[in-house]
Amino acid sequence: MNGIKTAIGTKEDISTAVAIIKGGGVVAFPTETVYGLGANAFSEEAVKEIFKAKGRPSDNPLIVHIPSVNWLNLVAKNVPDIALKLFKKFSPGALALVLEKSDNIPEIVTAGLPTVAVRIPKHDIALKLIEECGVPISAPSANISGLVSPTKASHVFADFNGKIPLILDGGDSEVGIESTVLDLTKNPPIILRPGAITADMLLKVLPKVLTHKGEVLIAQSPGMKYKHYSPKCEAVSATLFSVALNEYKKALNNGKSPVIIWCNPQGAEGAEVINLGGNAGECMHNLFAVLREAEVKYNYIILQYFEESEREFTALNNRIIKAVNGVVLRA
Ligand code: AMP
Ligand code: MG
Repeated sequence: MNGIKTAIGTKEDISTAVAIIKGGGVVAFPTETVYGLGANAFSEEAVKEIFKAKGRPSDNPLIVHIPSVNWLNLVAKNVPDIALKLFKKFSPGALALVLEKSDNIPEIVTAGLPTVAVRIPKHDIALKLIEECGVPISAPSANISGLVSPTKASHVFADFNGKIPLILDGGDSEVGIESTVLDLTKNPPIILRPGAITADMLLKVLPKVLTHKGEVLIAQSPGMKYKHYSPKCEAVSATLFSVALNEYKKALNNGKSPVIIWCNPQGAEGAEVINLGGNAGECMHNLFAVLREAEVKYNYIILQYFEESEREFTALNNRIIKAVNGVVLRA
């Protein structure tokens, strides 16, 4: 493809782009994430041209773009309900879902994997282009492999002038970074590449997700956003007894009537201290009763926050953090 004249078109030139793609060629087009270099996803020969133009290693799979969920079964099979839910909430948009590949998709697209990444881009030109081509379009970012992804038609031109026949100019890419890639073939689903659709956004639909850093995130159960378990008076927590004592003295000096609530307190130095219990089970058992007792006798509660490494205290810490509205004093 070297030595050809590269045209820059607008949405008026979508029909030219359609003809090129139907003829097995590649065209650069705008999406809201970054510009893509597209070809007919059903044609091994056409997709080969993408890899050639970009210098992309053949083991790096491409995202397949479709205009609506109605096309999903053309590119993927055994599509789980959760994929439809996610697309319903986030599409068109910056979310690519990895699903079981349909037999229609040649191996070159998926780098030999049994899975395929699918996305519905949020850009009029991209959607119209795919619809008029009548085939899904596989498209990686329209940059030479290893270089920065393009967010303007001029960036694509800089990399591909003389190598591709047409760049459709749709203005600056609104999002500006590549899509979130979420693998739905794993349980819990894994974010393979973070993007504008964040883990927290995905957790509005998914109960659990594994981040690209390997952290498991769990959706909050309904109602957790409401404030619960708060005593009627001001309350803070502290990780060390010495920190709690300091806070106690400050509160006294400020004319408050403070109390420390602690597990096995030692060396109270004359401070008012309530023993929460001798172990995690006792502390759990006593927590709410002690808080109720304290809120009527005192007006400032300093509550122990347990070491996060001590897993038997996890549930307790969860209630404590709510009681103190997230305030943890550390040394
Ligand atoms: P780009 O073409 O630059 O947007 O990159 C596409 C991204 O999607 C790469 O990070 C690929 O590794 C990822 N990807 C595409 N298809 C798959 C797949 N079937 N399984 C896992 N990751 C994929
Ligand atoms: Mg890329």
